[in-house]
Amino acid sequence: MAIVASAPQNEAAQAPIFLSVITPIYNEEKNIPILMGHLLELLPTLQKSFEIIAVNDGSRDGSLAELRKQATLHPEIKLVDFRRNYGQTAAIMAGIDHASGSVIISIDADLQNDPQDIPNLLAKLDEGFDVVSGWRKDRQDAAMRNFVSRVANWLISRISGVRLHDYGCTLKAYRSDVVKNVRLYGEMHRFIPIYATWMGAKVVDIPVRHYARRHGHSNYGLERIVKVILDLIVVKFLDRYMVKPIYVFGGFGILSLLFGVVSFVAMIVLKIVDNISMISTPLPLVTVMAVMTGISSILMGLLAEMLVRTYFESQQRTNYHVRERINFERAK
Ligand code: UDP
Ligand code: MG
Repeated sequence: MAIVASAPQNEAAQAPIFLSVITPIYNEEKNIPILMGHLLELLPTLQKSFEIIAVNDGSRDGSLAELRKQATLHPEIKLVDFRRNYGQTAAIMAGIDHASGSVIISIDADLQNDPQDIPNLLAKLDEGFDVVSGWRKDRQDAAMRNFVSRVANWLISRISGVRLHDYGCTLKAYRSDVVKNVRLYGEMHRFIPIYATWMGAKVVDIPVRHYARRHGHSNYGLERIVKVILDLIVVKFLDRYMVKPIYVFGGFGILSLLFGVVSFVAMIVLKIVDNISMISTPLPLVTVMAVMTGISSILMGLLAEMLVRTYFESQQRTNYHVRERINFERAK
């Protein structure tokens, strides 16, 4: 789903904020006061400036009223209210867009994560990591979901090459500079550590607590796995071939053309050597199909190359990420 983010708030006038805790909210009216209570008890003890950004993702229950009440009582709580339900990933993306802290922590609003783990995540960041991901080692969801999630995590880990135990855990801490540039679509919030690794960030996971839901109910079933796998294909494709799509389309096209040539040769050989009529075999059809597929794949690859140029050049984007520039300011 495309994300239309509103302009991030301008916090320049205020003191810099160290920690932004962001939480996506869809129908969590009973959980909100408890979560906010826990956070407001814990965060001040860290002795760092903080903000809590709640993103109301089009809730249909009393969540919005509850959030408004909390925000009036506690100025540290900031509220982004979506016009409709866009999904958890969009809500997390909006949280990141609006966060002004140099560290961002995302946490589920349903009390399945424990704010008490936040200090551990921060300690790990202090060790020099850029992303610390929570790992629900003792996960309290239905057995079937836990199993499917294990398989999915294994798959994601193999395909992406980023070794984490539990991508789906929302409780994660990031240095804001590594996440400010990511754009998230579909179910991709779970892939932030993967993007971050590709951008050169140091990523690690630590076990965190996990509880069964007490109020409200989960918004997802097993169908999410299909979305996650499709997203994974997109992510992998974008990583490898965003800049050179012709390698994928053209590569496939050339293979297909070769296959067409082989089938053509086989057809001729059968005719000459064994005197088998060409049309008594499926080979003419196979040849035509393979050649046509091959040519159109290569043409699609060329089209994709044009799209990539439009994408990067019209938006003055670069296809590389710079960590830091030194001594450039003076030259200006
Ligand atoms: N959520 C959201 N938008 C949605 C679905 C969920 O913001 O469309 C929030 C939800 O309120 C919760 C978090 O995302 O804070 C995780 O959702 P849920 O507990 O349903 O997922 P699960 O823990 O079962 O994976
Ligand atoms: Mg949950």
